Amino acid sequence: MDIRIGNGYDVHALAEGLPLWLGGVKIESPVGCIAHSDGDVAIHALCDALLGALAIGDIGKHFPDTSDEFAGIDSKILLSRVMELIRSMGWSVVNADITIAMQKPRLAPYILPMRECLATVMGVETDCVSVKATTTEKLGFVGRGEGCEVYAVALVRKG
Ligand code: MG
Repeated sequence: MDIRIGNGYDVHALAEGLPLWLGGVKIESPVGCIAHSDGDVAIHALCDALLGALAIGDIGKHFPDTSDEFAGIDSKILLSRVMELIRSMGWSVVNADITIAMQKPRLAPYILPMRECLATVMGVETDCVSVKATTTEKLGFVGRGEGCEVYAVALVRKG
């Protein structure tokens, strides 16, 4: 088979005074993700979707959060390493679609910058990368502002 699909999911808790990185872009926000890396939960879900497409484990396996090497790391570096791995196996990305669930801040102004940033890191056209944002209508941990949740899917093809 020469096409494969993968899905990824990640959650990080939010805390005041931390930087918020999503899709490789710094977001103006009073809260940021608690994390071992820079906490870019969107990139983490995307990496898991890409790794999942080829059934080669998950981000925690490739970049353990117990390793000092990845402490505070820019998640764009993790994404570029995942892309290198995918290409080394003879695959390329067709498209990816990411949904970020966060109550606030409003992410609409950052959607295009995130798409452009992720596409650049992945070496694909911007129209191959979709980023969508939603609130959860104040329901659940996302709605209470306790965390940020991201779903991603990615399609890859041989060659
Ligand atoms: Mg994560």
